[in-house]
Amino acid sequence: MSDALINNVVHSIRKKLSAPAAASRSRRKRSISEPSRLWTPGQNLRISFVDQTEDDVKKAIFAAASEWLEYANLQFERVDDEDATAEIRIGPENASFSLQGTQSMQQEGASMLIGCPPGHDLFEHTVLHEFGHALGLHHEHQHPEANIPWDLEALRSLIRGILADEGVPDEEIEDKMEAELADNFLPMPQENLKVLPYDPESIMHYAVLQTHTLGDYETGLNLRLSEKDKQAARTLYPGR
Ligand SMILES: [Zn+2]
Repeated sequence: MSDALINNVVHSIRKKLSAPAAASRSRRKRSISEPSRLWTPGQNLRISFVDQTEDDVKKAIFAAASEWLEYANLQFERVDDEDATAEIRIGPENASFSLQGTQSMQQEGASMLIGCPPGHDLFEHTVLHEFGHALGLHHEHQHPEANIPWDLEALRSLIRGILADEGVPDEEIEDKMEAELADNFLPMPQENLKVLPYDPESIMHYAVLQTHTLGDYETGLNLRLSEKDKQAARTLYPGR
């Protein structure tokens, strides 16, 4: 087990906790994609940075994200900073998070955070994963057919610890912990979702740690778009 894997799992939960507006409205947000949150194929998505100063970071994020455009029939256009009308609004790098697809048009402020600097081992993973959410994708490990043998008590204690660190009052921790567990780990019901076959190699899949599962089960972190990620991008945004 490497620190990178632990960091990824913890980080992935933390990003939801740092964006309460999104987390509280997103109980059904984690699994493949919901057609109502997809952009229109061929659409131009404007990208604006919010409260970010380093141009090298902005350029690196834009370049890494653009890999999706080899497969998805969409355009990314970098527009002025602090443009509240942009479809994707990327805030400072204190956590990783993204609203899902067109959810960004219903909420104000940053729609995405990239909590990993260029040059870090997980930078490309983080950008591709968060932009996957921005294109409308859910977490692949929450696929209805993923069948991951999670150790629920281990996950609960992990989440409780993070909530306590975040300063959540004791009396709220149990309710919030169950919500985080459902939002981030548990399989999603299939209705209203567009579901492609389960892909354990997806960029949208968390690393699964041995300590968070029952029996002998773990998966590493996927660092690149899988063949099925590319296929999903082509299927959801045809015409490339
Ligand atoms: Zn995610």
